[in-house]
Order: sequence, then structure tokens, then C-alpha cells
Amino acid sequence: MNNSFADLHIHIGQSLDGKAVKITAAKSLTLSSIIATARDIKGLSLIGIVDCHSTGVRKDLFQLLNTGDLEELSGGGYTSGGLTLIPGTEIELAAGEGTAHFLAYFADVDRIGRYVKTLKPYVKNWQLSSQKAYVTVADWLEVIAECEGIWMPAHAFTPHKGIYGNCCRRMLDVLPVLPKALEIGLSADRSMANQLSELDNVILFSNSDAHSLPNIAREYNQLSLVENSFLGLKELVEENRGAVVRNFGLPPQVGKYHRTYCLVCERVVEGVAPVYHCSHCGSNKIVPGVLDRLVSIADKERPGELDSRYVHQVQLRQLPGVGPKMYDKLLQTFGTEMNVLHHAELDELIKAGGEKVAAWILKARQGDLIFEAGGGGVFGRVKDILSD
Ligand SMILES: [Zn+2]
Ligand SMILES: [Zn+2]
Repeated sequence: MNNSFADLHIHIGQSLDGKAVKITAAKSLTLSSIIATARDIKGLSLIGIVDCHSTGVRKDLFQLLNTGDLEELSGGGYTSGGLTLIPGTEIELAAGEGTAHFLAYFADVDRIGRYVKTLKPYVKNWQLSSQKAYVTVADWLEVIAECEGIWMPAHAFTPHKGIYGNCCRRMLDVLPVLPKALEIGLSADRSMANQLSELDNVILFSNSDAHSLPNIAREYNQLSLVENSFLGLKELVEENRGAVVRNFGLPPQVGKYHRTYCLVCERVVEGVAPVYHCSHCGSNKIVPGVLDRLVSIADKERPGELDSRYVHQVQLRQLPGVGPKMYDKLLQTFGTEMNVLHHAELDELIKAGGEKVAAWILKARQGDLIFEAGGGGVFGRVKDILSD
């Protein structure tokens, strides 16, 4: 089995011809810069880029294949110096009472070309990211199957375009089949997802949904795959061969939609979930929190124990004491963020960063950080209480 650190939800800001792809994403987020950052700085071994349907990005893929910067893998996907790239797409579909984002992955650009060709009349702009497709979920799934792709709902619990956050209490009420995999999203974690019995046998992923280079691997997965390729990922999702060993992600309370947020008071509403009006001013002009939504749709007891397969972690740069200079020093010493976070020995960490920084990194590694809550589009953060 192949062990890999994987982030399957990365956007592209701009294709190499200078045209916008994801308008809200950083322009510096190009196919080439993503590959370099994920491989050389983050230290990931598998990435999914979800804007590969884009006309410009498909050209970029062909270009990097021509120059030899990318090579085809026999099991599907591409490789660049040990990093596997799986081409994918994110799309918006109507489901039940709302709309939701879905992710799909394919073996190569040819299959994505087939996907685009089949859906051509139903999507307005093929250059842009996360566009709405005017087809039913059932029809979309048929196209995915024809193109031998795999799929999952994206950021399932978020109020913005998440299937549970925005469309339904049970996926089977609005989807023709239960997905085999699902992306949890930034404001939830595995023990929250465990409260829905519908998800008992669904494989749970945590991805960054990065809109900028530094945010790549803000959430990621440790996967055990039969091989580090599209086929490896497909066998995990469809045949349950391999495993998501652990998810690494923001603790849910740090996610920017974790709790209900009052738009009048402009602050997070405190109180036992679920709350749907502001306890301070009484207004119901609120952004519902992921936790509040989940508590209202859960059909199982909230498990007291955290699921140990979900490690609460923030990015290296967000640890107390890791300013830009320290960050550079750690990378110079250990190569990549994954090396610092997972592999570096304690005495080497102390030598490079001092006792305090080494202690923070160990806390991050073991999931022992303590956090302050976020809500209404504002992230929470790490509580700096190492010295207490
Ligand atoms: Zn999305
Ligand atoms: Zn996205």
C-alpha cells in the first residue's frame, strides 16, 4: 500500500494565458504554481485540481504534458517529480430545496474533454470555476459514469452550497444514490459527520478548497492507496481498497461558518446549538452555523469521544511563534511543511526552532491544540496558551 498526503480540492485563479478561472481566487494560483507549491513547499504526494474542465486549464495541462513537466501515469492522473495530480471539476447542481457543489475526478484530460462535450449545452461558461449545470443530479451522475469518473459532494455541511447545509436533511431524499465519498468541509469534522447514520459507510475526506497558494493543504488526508494514481483513488472510493487513515483539518470551531452568526450584531451567537435567532438582539437575520445545522439534522447522539482519525491541526504558519522568518528557517531545515509537521525529530525541531516552537509543532502533530471559535465568515484561531 502507498501512503500519501492528499489534498483533493484546489482551485485555479488563472489559466496560463492570463484568463480568470476562479474569480475569487488569487491570480498567482496557476497550474504550474500549484504543482510547485504542493510538491516543494507543502510536501503533498497527491492533489486534486477541481478546475480542469476549464478551457484554459485544459490547454495548460496539454502544454505541461508537451514540455514534459507532467507525465501520464499508467493508472491515470499525472505525475510531476513524485507529486500525483488528479484532474477534477467542481460543479453546482440543483438538489432538493437548494443547490450544492459536487466534485468529480477523472483519469485524464481526454475523459474531461468527453465530460465537457457531453455537458456543453448545460453550462454557460466553461472557462470559469464551479459553474451551475442545468441538468439533474441523475443526469450528471450518468455523465460521470460514462467518463469513468468518481464523485463526491463538496463541503457538505457548509451553509453556502453544501448538500446538508443548503439542500436536505438526508442525501437520499434528494440524490438518486448515496455517494460513496463525501468532503466534510472546513467547519465540520469527522465526529460531527458521525452523527448522521446515513454516513456510516461513506468515506470522508478533508480538503483545503484553496483559493490561494498558502492555503493549499490547510486541510488534507493521509491516504493508504493501492497506488498513488487516479486508479488508487478510484479503488479506495468505489471498492473500499485502501483507506483514509487520518484527516487533518481545522478544528470545526475555527471554521468560518461553525456557529450561527448574527448579521445585525455582526458577531457569533453564543448558546447551545441549534440557535436560529440572535440571543442578543433577537434578530433572525443570521448565517446558520454548521454546528447548529448539524445538531438539527443529526439522528445519532453526539459522540462524546472525538474520532481519532480526525486530527485537529492548523497550518504551520498559523502556529504561535512561527512568523515568516521562523517559517523559512523550518522549511530550509526540513524541506517541506509535511516534513516539519509529521517527520522531523523533536531534538532537530528544538535545534532549528527553539523549545517553544518545537512544542507547538508537537502539539499540532498530536492534535493537542486549543482553539477559539469562528462564525459568519470569520475564522477562529489557535489559543496561545502554551505558557500557562
Ligand atoms: Zn464549492
Ligand atoms: Zn471549491
